[in-house]
Amino acid sequence: MHPFQYQRAESAEQAVAAVAPNPAATFIAGGTSHVDLMKEDVHRPALLVDVSALPLREISAFEGGLRIGAGVSNTAAAYHADVQRRYPAVSEALLAGASMQIRNMATMAGNPLQRTRCPYFRDPTQACNKRQPGSGCAAIGGYNHVHALFGASAACIATHPSDLAVALSALDARVQTLGPRGPRTIAFPELHRLPGDTPHLDTVLAHGELITSIDLLAFTGRSHYLKVRERASYAYALVSCAVALEMSGGKLQRVRVALGGVAHKPWRLPAVEAMLAEQPPSEKLFRAAAQAAFADARPLKHNAYKVPMGRDLLVRALLETSGLRPLQGPAGTAFAASVGGVAGQLAAPR
Ligand SMILES: Cc1cc2nc3c(=O)[nH]c(=O)nc-3n(C[C@H](O)[C@H](O)[C@H](O)COP(=O)(O)OP(=O)(O)OC[C@H]3O[C@@H](n4cnc5c(N)ncnc54)[C@H](O)[C@@H]3O)c2cc1C
Ligand code: SF4
Repeated sequence: MHPFQYQRAESAEQAVAAVAPNPAATFIAGGTSHVDLMKEDVHRPALLVDVSALPLREISAFEGGLRIGAGVSNTAAAYHADVQRRYPAVSEALLAGASMQIRNMATMAGNPLQRTRCPYFRDPTQACNKRQPGSGCAAIGGYNHVHALFGASAACIATHPSDLAVALSALDARVQTLGPRGPRTIAFPELHRLPGDTPHLDTVLAHGELITSIDLLAFTGRSHYLKVRERASYAYALVSCAVALEMSGGKLQRVRVALGGVAHKPWRLPAVEAMLAEQPPSEKLFRAAAQAAFADARPLKHNAYKVPMGRDLLVRALLETSGLRPLQGPAGTAFAASVGGVAGQLAAPR
Protein backbone atom coordinates (compact mmCIF):
# COMPACT_ATOMS: atom_id res chain seq x y z
CA MET A 1 0.00 0.00 0.00
CA HIS A 2 1.15 3.51 -0.84
CA PRO A 3 2.13 5.45 2.35
CA PHE A 4 -0.46 8.05 3.43
CA GLN A 5 -1.26 10.53 6.16
CA TYR A 6 -4.50 10.39 8.12
CA GLN A 7 -6.53 13.25 9.52
CA ARG A 8 -9.90 13.22 11.28
CA ALA A 9 -12.15 16.15 10.27
CA GLU A 10 -13.89 18.10 13.05
CA SER A 11 -16.41 19.78 10.75
CA ALA A 12 -17.66 19.56 7.17
CA GLU A 13 -15.99 22.89 6.40
CA GLN A 14 -12.67 21.62 7.72
CA ALA A 15 -12.96 18.42 5.68
CA VAL A 16 -13.56 20.36 2.47
CA ALA A 17 -10.71 22.79 3.25
CA ALA A 18 -8.33 19.85 3.78
CA VAL A 19 -9.22 17.93 0.58
CA ALA A 20 -10.14 20.58 -2.01
CA PRO A 21 -6.70 22.19 -2.50
CA ASN A 22 -4.79 18.88 -2.43
CA PRO A 23 -5.21 16.62 -5.51
CA ALA A 24 -3.70 13.71 -3.56
CA ALA A 25 -6.21 13.96 -0.70
CA THR A 26 -9.54 12.08 -0.42
CA PHE A 27 -12.37 11.65 2.03
CA ILE A 28 -12.84 8.35 3.78
CA ALA A 29 -16.05 7.33 5.57
CA GLY A 30 -16.72 3.65 6.36
CA GLY A 31 -13.62 2.72 4.36
CA THR A 32 -15.20 -0.50 3.06
CA SER A 33 -14.58 0.41 -0.56
CA HIS A 34 -11.71 2.87 -0.38
CA VAL A 35 -9.37 0.76 1.77
CA ASP A 36 -9.74 -2.28 -0.52
CA LEU A 37 -8.74 -0.12 -3.48
CA MET A 38 -5.74 1.22 -1.54
CA LYS A 39 -4.64 -2.32 -0.66
CA GLU A 40 -4.95 -3.28 -4.34
CA ASP A 41 -2.81 -0.23 -5.25
CA VAL A 42 -5.62 1.17 -7.40
CA HIS A 43 -6.12 4.24 -5.16
CA ARG A 44 -2.91 5.90 -3.94
CA PRO A 45 -3.99 8.89 -1.81
CA ALA A 46 -1.31 10.79 0.12
CA LEU A 47 -3.84 12.14 2.65
CA LEU A 48 -7.01 10.52 3.98
CA VAL A 49 -9.49 12.89 5.60
CA ASP A 50 -11.85 10.86 7.79
CA VAL A 51 -15.41 12.21 7.71
CA SER A 52 -16.97 9.37 9.72
CA ALA A 53 -17.16 11.37 12.98
CA LEU A 54 -18.92 14.40 11.48
CA PRO A 55 -22.44 15.14 12.77
CA LEU A 56 -24.03 13.78 9.58
CA ARG A 57 -25.61 10.66 11.08
CA GLU A 58 -29.25 11.71 11.53
CA ILE A 59 -32.38 10.73 9.62
CA SER A 60 -34.96 13.50 9.96
CA ALA A 61 -38.22 14.75 8.45
CA PHE A 62 -37.53 17.24 5.66
CA GLU A 63 -40.06 19.04 3.43
CA GLY A 64 -42.53 16.15 3.61
CA GLY A 65 -39.81 13.61 2.86
CA LEU A 66 -36.71 12.40 4.70
CA ARG A 67 -33.19 13.81 4.97
CA ILE A 68 -30.62 11.04 5.48
CA GLY A 69 -27.25 12.28 6.68
CA ALA A 70 -24.25 11.28 4.56
CA GLY A 71 -22.71 9.38 7.49
CA VAL A 72 -25.78 7.27 8.33
CA SER A 73 -24.82 3.63 8.02
CA ASN A 74 -26.39 1.45 5.36
CA THR A 75 -27.83 -0.72 8.15
CA ALA A 76 -29.38 2.22 10.04
CA ALA A 77 -31.00 3.57 6.87
CA ALA A 78 -32.25 0.17 5.72
CA TYR A 79 -34.02 -0.59 9.01
CA HIS A 80 -35.30 2.93 9.71
CA ALA A 81 -39.08 2.58 10.09
CA ASP A 82 -39.93 5.53 7.81
CA VAL A 83 -37.50 4.41 5.11
CA GLN A 84 -38.89 0.87 5.12
CA ARG A 85 -42.50 2.03 5.13
CA ARG A 86 -42.37 5.00 2.75
CA TYR A 87 -39.41 4.16 0.48
CA PRO A 88 -39.14 0.33 0.54
CA ALA A 89 -36.98 0.34 -2.63
CA VAL A 90 -34.22 2.01 -0.61
CA SER A 91 -34.31 -0.59 2.16
CA GLU A 92 -34.58 -3.44 -0.35
CA ALA A 93 -31.59 -2.14 -2.34
CA LEU A 94 -29.46 -1.70 0.77
CA LEU A 95 -30.34 -5.09 2.24
CA ALA A 96 -29.67 -6.82 -1.08
CA GLY A 97 -26.09 -5.50 -1.05
CA ALA A 98 -22.83 -6.62 0.58
CA SER A 99 -23.05 -8.29 4.02
CA MET A 100 -24.35 -7.22 7.42
CA GLN A 101 -20.81 -6.46 8.63
CA ILE A 102 -20.08 -4.26 5.61
CA ARG A 103 -23.46 -2.52 5.80
CA ASN A 104 -22.77 -1.68 9.46
CA MET A 105 -19.66 0.28 8.39
CA ALA A 106 -20.73 1.55 4.96
CA THR A 107 -22.32 4.99 4.72
CA MET A 108 -25.06 6.54 2.60
CA ALA A 109 -22.58 8.82 0.82
CA GLY A 110 -19.86 6.21 0.40
CA ASN A 111 -22.19 3.63 -1.16
CA PRO A 112 -23.14 5.51 -4.35
CA LEU A 113 -19.53 6.72 -4.64
CA GLN A 114 -18.01 3.23 -4.69
CA ARG A 115 -16.14 2.47 -7.90
CA THR A 116 -16.80 -0.02 -10.65
CA ARG A 117 -16.36 -3.75 -10.13
CA CYS A 118 -14.82 -4.14 -13.60
CA PRO A 119 -12.10 -6.71 -12.82
CA TYR A 120 -9.57 -4.97 -15.08
CA PHE A 121 -9.97 -1.72 -13.12
CA ARG A 122 -8.92 -3.58 -9.98
CA ASP A 123 -5.87 -5.19 -11.57
CA PRO A 124 -3.01 -2.68 -11.96
CA THR A 125 -1.27 -4.97 -14.48
CA GLN A 126 -4.15 -4.38 -16.98
CA ALA A 127 -4.83 -1.42 -19.25
CA CYS A 128 -7.65 0.69 -17.82
CA ASN A 129 -8.60 4.24 -18.82
CA LYS A 130 -10.55 4.67 -15.60
CA ARG A 131 -7.59 3.81 -13.37
CA GLN A 132 -4.92 5.32 -15.63
CA PRO A 133 -6.29 7.68 -18.30
CA GLY A 134 -4.90 6.97 -21.79
CA SER A 135 -3.74 3.42 -21.00
CA GLY A 136 -6.55 1.67 -22.94
CA CYS A 137 -9.39 -0.62 -21.95
CA ALA A 138 -8.63 -4.30 -21.41
CA ALA A 139 -12.33 -5.12 -21.03
CA ILE A 140 -13.29 -4.18 -24.60
CA GLY A 141 -11.37 -7.11 -26.10
CA GLY A 142 -11.45 -9.12 -22.88
CA TYR A 143 -14.07 -11.00 -20.88
CA ASN A 144 -16.88 -8.46 -20.65
CA HIS A 145 -19.80 -10.39 -19.16
CA VAL A 146 -20.49 -7.86 -16.37
CA HIS A 147 -20.16 -4.80 -18.58
CA ALA A 148 -22.52 -2.20 -20.04
CA LEU A 149 -25.40 -2.44 -22.51
CA PHE A 150 -26.09 1.30 -22.63
CA GLY A 151 -24.08 4.52 -22.75
CA ALA A 152 -20.63 2.93 -23.07
CA SER A 153 -17.81 4.65 -24.96
CA ALA A 154 -14.72 3.64 -26.91
CA ALA A 155 -12.77 4.43 -23.73
CA CYS A 156 -14.77 2.49 -21.12
CA ILE A 157 -17.60 -0.06 -20.96
CA ALA A 158 -17.83 -0.35 -17.17
CA THR A 159 -21.02 -0.46 -15.11
CA HIS A 160 -21.80 1.21 -11.81
CA PRO A 161 -22.12 -1.30 -8.95
CA SER A 162 -24.22 0.42 -6.28
CA ASP A 163 -27.69 -1.04 -5.61
CA LEU A 164 -28.68 1.97 -3.54
CA ALA A 165 -27.90 4.36 -6.40
CA VAL A 166 -30.47 2.63 -8.63
CA ALA A 167 -33.23 3.05 -6.04
CA LEU A 168 -32.26 6.69 -5.37
CA SER A 169 -32.31 7.44 -9.08
CA ALA A 170 -35.83 6.01 -9.53
CA LEU A 171 -37.02 8.01 -6.52
CA ASP A 172 -35.52 11.25 -7.90
CA ALA A 173 -33.62 11.75 -4.63
CA ARG A 174 -31.49 14.86 -4.15
CA VAL A 175 -27.89 15.07 -3.02
CA GLN A 176 -26.81 17.98 -0.80
CA THR A 177 -23.15 18.87 -0.92
CA LEU A 178 -20.64 21.32 0.50
CA GLY A 179 -17.82 22.13 -1.87
CA PRO A 180 -15.00 24.63 -2.18
CA ARG A 181 -17.55 27.01 -3.76
CA GLY A 182 -20.20 26.47 -1.09
CA PRO A 183 -23.30 24.26 -0.84
CA ARG A 184 -25.30 22.95 -3.79
CA THR A 185 -28.11 20.47 -4.59
CA ILE A 186 -27.71 17.77 -7.26
CA ALA A 187 -30.63 15.75 -8.62
CA PHE A 188 -29.59 12.14 -8.02
CA PRO A 189 -30.02 11.05 -11.66
CA GLU A 190 -27.46 13.76 -12.55
CA LEU A 191 -24.86 12.69 -9.97
CA HIS A 192 -23.15 9.98 -12.01
CA ARG A 193 -21.62 10.50 -15.47
CA LEU A 194 -21.39 8.44 -18.61
CA PRO A 195 -17.77 7.52 -19.41
CA GLY A 196 -17.26 9.45 -22.68
CA ASP A 197 -13.56 10.10 -23.11
CA THR A 198 -13.05 10.87 -19.39
CA PRO A 199 -14.01 7.60 -17.67
CA HIS A 200 -11.75 8.38 -14.70
CA LEU A 201 -14.52 10.78 -13.58
CA ASP A 202 -17.43 8.80 -12.11
CA THR A 203 -19.57 11.72 -10.93
CA VAL A 204 -20.12 15.46 -11.37
CA LEU A 205 -18.71 16.14 -7.88
CA ALA A 206 -15.75 18.53 -7.80
CA HIS A 207 -12.58 17.39 -6.05
CA GLY A 208 -13.13 18.11 -2.36
CA GLU A 209 -16.92 18.38 -2.64
CA LEU A 210 -18.45 16.63 0.37
CA ILE A 211 -21.88 15.00 0.31
CA THR A 212 -23.72 16.10 3.45
CA SER A 213 -27.08 14.39 2.97
CA ILE A 214 -29.32 12.43 0.64
CA ASP A 215 -32.88 13.75 0.55
CA LEU A 216 -35.86 11.55 -0.26
CA LEU A 217 -38.62 13.78 -1.56
CA ALA A 218 -42.24 13.58 -0.41
CA PHE A 219 -43.76 10.54 -2.09
CA THR A 220 -46.90 8.56 -1.31
CA GLY A 221 -46.65 5.96 -4.08
CA ARG A 222 -45.09 2.51 -4.15
CA SER A 223 -41.45 1.65 -4.78
CA HIS A 224 -39.62 -1.62 -5.21
CA TYR A 225 -36.13 -2.94 -6.05
CA LEU A 226 -35.21 -6.27 -7.65
CA LYS A 227 -31.70 -7.66 -8.14
CA VAL A 228 -30.36 -10.64 -10.12
CA ARG A 229 -26.92 -11.87 -9.08
CA GLU A 230 -24.69 -14.89 -9.55
CA ARG A 231 -25.43 -16.27 -6.07
CA ALA A 232 -28.24 -15.61 -3.64
CA SER A 233 -26.34 -13.18 -1.41
CA TYR A 234 -23.07 -11.25 -1.10
CA ALA A 235 -22.79 -10.60 -4.83
CA TYR A 236 -23.15 -7.55 -7.05
CA ALA A 237 -26.06 -7.12 -9.46
CA LEU A 238 -25.81 -8.56 -12.93
CA VAL A 239 -28.97 -6.63 -13.67
CA SER A 240 -31.24 -4.80 -11.24
CA CYS A 241 -34.33 -2.65 -11.44
CA ALA A 242 -36.01 -0.01 -9.29
CA VAL A 243 -39.55 1.20 -9.89
CA ALA A 244 -41.40 4.07 -8.20
CA LEU A 245 -45.00 4.65 -9.20
CA GLU A 246 -48.23 6.25 -8.17
CA MET A 247 -51.67 4.83 -9.02
CA SER A 248 -55.08 6.44 -9.06
CA GLY A 249 -58.47 5.29 -10.35
CA GLY A 250 -57.04 1.94 -11.42
CA LYS A 251 -54.43 3.62 -13.64
CA LEU A 252 -50.72 4.15 -13.33
CA GLN A 253 -49.94 7.80 -12.83
CA ARG A 254 -46.31 8.88 -12.73
CA VAL A 255 -43.92 5.92 -13.18
CA ARG A 256 -40.14 6.09 -12.77
CA VAL A 257 -37.85 3.23 -13.70
CA ALA A 258 -34.08 2.80 -13.29
CA LEU A 259 -31.95 -0.18 -14.28
CA GLY A 260 -28.71 -1.21 -12.58
CA GLY A 261 -25.80 -3.29 -13.89
CA VAL A 262 -26.30 -2.08 -17.45
CA ALA A 263 -24.51 1.29 -17.65
CA HIS A 264 -21.88 3.57 -16.09
CA LYS A 265 -24.71 5.11 -14.05
CA PRO A 266 -28.19 4.06 -12.94
CA TRP A 267 -30.01 3.91 -16.27
CA ARG A 268 -33.30 5.84 -16.24
CA LEU A 269 -35.86 5.02 -18.93
CA PRO A 270 -37.76 8.24 -19.72
CA ALA A 271 -39.44 6.88 -22.87
CA VAL A 272 -40.69 3.84 -20.96
CA GLU A 273 -41.86 6.04 -18.10
CA ALA A 274 -43.89 8.14 -20.58
CA MET A 275 -45.30 5.01 -22.22
CA LEU A 276 -46.62 3.71 -18.87
CA ALA A 277 -48.13 6.96 -17.56
CA GLU A 278 -51.93 7.16 -17.44
CA GLN A 279 -52.34 3.50 -18.52
CA PRO A 280 -54.17 0.71 -16.69
CA PRO A 281 -51.52 -1.77 -15.53
CA SER A 282 -51.36 -5.10 -17.35
CA GLU A 283 -48.74 -7.73 -18.12
CA LYS A 284 -49.18 -7.01 -21.83
CA LEU A 285 -48.36 -3.33 -21.29
CA PHE A 286 -45.34 -4.21 -19.12
CA ARG A 287 -44.01 -6.65 -21.73
CA ALA A 288 -44.27 -3.94 -24.39
CA ALA A 289 -42.47 -1.53 -22.04
CA ALA A 290 -39.68 -4.08 -21.49
CA GLN A 291 -39.24 -4.52 -25.25
CA ALA A 292 -38.96 -0.74 -25.63
CA ALA A 293 -36.56 -0.48 -22.68
CA PHE A 294 -33.94 -2.68 -24.31
CA ALA A 295 -34.47 -1.67 -27.94
CA ASP A 296 -31.31 0.48 -27.86
CA ALA A 297 -29.15 -2.02 -25.94
CA ARG A 298 -25.70 -2.58 -27.44
CA PRO A 299 -24.56 -5.99 -26.16
CA LEU A 300 -20.87 -6.89 -26.15
CA LYS A 301 -19.33 -10.27 -26.84
CA HIS A 302 -20.11 -11.79 -23.42
CA ASN A 303 -23.04 -9.85 -21.93
CA ALA A 304 -25.96 -10.40 -24.36
CA TYR A 305 -27.61 -12.53 -21.64
CA LYS A 306 -28.42 -9.28 -19.83
CA VAL A 307 -31.00 -8.30 -22.45
CA PRO A 308 -33.59 -11.07 -21.86
CA MET A 309 -32.68 -11.09 -18.17
CA GLY A 310 -33.27 -7.35 -17.92
CA ARG A 311 -36.54 -7.50 -19.84
CA ASP A 312 -37.94 -10.23 -17.57
CA LEU A 313 -36.75 -8.41 -14.47
CA LEU A 314 -38.42 -5.18 -15.55
CA VAL A 315 -41.72 -6.98 -16.24
CA ARG A 316 -41.58 -8.64 -12.85
CA ALA A 317 -40.69 -5.37 -11.08
CA LEU A 318 -43.63 -3.59 -12.72
CA LEU A 319 -46.04 -6.45 -11.93
CA GLU A 320 -44.96 -6.51 -8.29
CA THR A 321 -44.87 -2.76 -7.77
CA SER A 322 -48.28 -2.21 -9.35
CA GLY A 323 -49.77 -5.03 -7.23
CA LEU A 324 -50.66 -7.35 -10.12
CA ARG A 325 -48.36 -9.96 -8.60
CA PRO A 326 -47.46 -10.29 -4.91
CA LEU A 327 -43.99 -9.44 -3.65
CA GLN A 328 -41.85 -12.48 -2.83
CA GLY A 329 -41.26 -11.23 0.71
CA PRO A 330 -42.27 -8.35 2.99
CA ALA A 331 -41.79 -4.92 1.40
CA GLY A 332 -38.59 -3.23 2.53
CA THR A 333 -36.70 -6.48 3.16
CA ALA A 334 -34.02 -8.40 1.26
CA PHE A 335 -36.60 -11.13 0.54
CA ALA A 336 -38.67 -8.74 -1.57
CA ALA A 337 -35.56 -7.78 -3.59
CA SER A 338 -34.24 -11.28 -4.19
CA VAL A 339 -34.52 -13.14 -7.46
CA GLY A 340 -33.46 -16.75 -7.70
CA GLY A 341 -33.82 -20.03 -5.89
CA VAL A 342 -37.33 -21.27 -5.20
CA ALA A 343 -38.78 -17.75 -4.91
CA GLY A 344 -37.33 -16.85 -8.31
CA GLN A 345 -38.77 -19.93 -9.98
CA LEU A 346 -42.23 -19.25 -8.57
CA ALA A 347 -42.07 -15.62 -9.57
CA ALA A 348 -40.62 -15.97 -13.06
CA PRO A 349 -42.82 -14.09 -15.55
CA ARG A 350 -44.75 -16.52 -17.73
C1 LIG B 1 -17.15 -7.68 -0.29
C2 LIG B 1 -18.04 -6.53 -0.64
C3 LIG B 1 -19.28 -6.76 -1.22
C4 LIG B 1 -20.09 -5.69 -1.56
N1 LIG B 1 -21.31 -5.91 -2.16
C5 LIG B 1 -22.09 -4.87 -2.53
C6 LIG B 1 -23.31 -5.05 -3.20
O1 LIG B 1 -23.75 -6.16 -3.46
N2 LIG B 1 -24.04 -3.95 -3.55
C7 LIG B 1 -23.60 -2.68 -3.30
O2 LIG B 1 -24.28 -1.71 -3.66
N3 LIG B 1 -22.43 -2.47 -2.68
C8 LIG B 1 -21.68 -3.52 -2.30
N4 LIG B 1 -20.49 -3.29 -1.67
C9 LIG B 1 -19.98 -1.94 -1.58
C10 LIG B 1 -20.30 -1.27 -0.27
O3 LIG B 1 -21.66 -0.99 -0.24
C11 LIG B 1 -19.46 0.00 -0.28
O4 LIG B 1 -18.13 -0.40 -0.07
C12 LIG B 1 -19.86 0.98 0.77
O5 LIG B 1 -21.21 1.34 0.64
C13 LIG B 1 -19.01 2.21 0.70
O6 LIG B 1 -19.31 3.04 1.80
P1 LIG B 1 -18.16 3.57 2.76
O7 LIG B 1 -18.79 4.52 3.70
O8 LIG B 1 -17.41 2.43 3.36
O9 LIG B 1 -17.27 4.34 1.69
P2 LIG B 1 -15.68 4.58 1.67
O10 LIG B 1 -15.01 3.32 1.27
O11 LIG B 1 -15.22 5.24 2.92
O12 LIG B 1 -15.62 5.65 0.51
C14 LIG B 1 -16.06 5.34 -0.80
C15 LIG B 1 -15.87 6.59 -1.65
O13 LIG B 1 -16.77 7.61 -1.23
C16 LIG B 1 -16.08 8.80 -0.93
N5 LIG B 1 -16.83 9.43 0.16
C17 LIG B 1 -17.23 8.84 1.32
N6 LIG B 1 -18.01 9.69 2.01
C18 LIG B 1 -18.11 10.82 1.27
C19 LIG B 1 -18.82 12.05 1.44
N7 LIG B 1 -19.58 12.31 2.52
N8 LIG B 1 -18.73 12.98 0.46
C20 LIG B 1 -17.99 12.76 -0.65
N9 LIG B 1 -17.28 11.63 -0.84
C21 LIG B 1 -17.36 10.67 0.11
C22 LIG B 1 -14.67 8.37 -0.58
O14 LIG B 1 -13.73 9.39 -0.83
C23 LIG B 1 -14.48 7.19 -1.54
O15 LIG B 1 -14.11 7.67 -2.81
C24 LIG B 1 -19.65 -4.37 -1.29
C25 LIG B 1 -18.43 -4.14 -0.68
C26 LIG B 1 -17.62 -5.19 -0.36
C27 LIG B 1 -16.29 -4.91 0.28
S1 SF4 C 1 -14.27 -1.01 -18.84
FE1 SF4 C 1 -13.60 0.92 -17.91
S2 SF4 C 1 -13.00 0.27 -15.88
FE2 SF4 C 1 -13.00 -1.60 -17.14
S3 SF4 C 1 -10.93 -1.79 -18.03
FE3 SF4 C 1 -12.14 -0.62 -19.47
S4 SF4 C 1 -11.68 1.49 -18.90
FE4 SF4 C 1 -11.15 0.25 -17.16
